Amino acid sequence: MSLNSKREVQCPRCSQFTEVTVWDSVTVRDSADLKRDLLSGKINMFRCPSCSYSALMPDPMLYHDEDRKLMISFSPCADDDVKRRLYENVVKTSEKSGELKKLEGYNLRFVTDYNELLEKILIFDNDLSDKTVEVIKLMILSQDADKADNRVCRFGKCENGVMEFMIYDSKEAMTYTSSVPSETYDAVNAGLRESGVKPYSFGWEIVDASYAARLLTGFNG
Ligand SMILES: [Zn+2]
Repeated sequence: MSLNSKREVQCPRCSQFTEVTVWDSVTVRDSADLKRDLLSGKINMFRCPSCSYSALMPDPMLYHDEDRKLMISFSPCADDDVKRRLYENVVKTSEKSGELKKLEGYNLRFVTDYNELLEKILIFDNDLSDKTVEVIKLMILSQDADKADNRVCRFGKCENGVMEFMIYDSKEAMTYTSSVPSETYDAVNAGLRESGVKPYSFGWEIVDASYAARLLTGFNG
């Protein structure tokens, strides 16, 4: 069920108070509009009507797509240590509540970045596996290995047998596009399945670049 609460928030720039609707959970079946707002970056975003200052609210949110058997736990956070603690907390809470039994066959993801949340939704909406996509992103970034540290690669779209990725280089302040044929995805995906990577979760998972790096060095997650 989609749940929200209203909160008075003071603008950190101009001090004006504004009422913000904060969503704790977004269930896709409830409202296609809500999902559309999420994908366009309007959910849990504070926008000051008087000075246009905008910022993401710090509140966690649960995204649930019953039809795709996808659940994403989103906790906004930029610090790696805090991220690890939040993740452990989500794992512990869900073990205690016994909810995992009800989520058999699901993909369960934990993310801390809004763009990562949107990317995950997009990947699953395209019937793709984020584990395979993360491996392909590593392959793309390794083509310019010396620049990889400054770059973030995100899945863009998949159309007419071509996957498009956006590469943002923070040092050059440039965005590049990279295309990968769907056949490459299929081959990598089949390889991962053969090596034992499951298309569903046994618990909450962080599927990111370090996850993909561990997969490539022989860890089967
Ligand atoms: Zn303001």
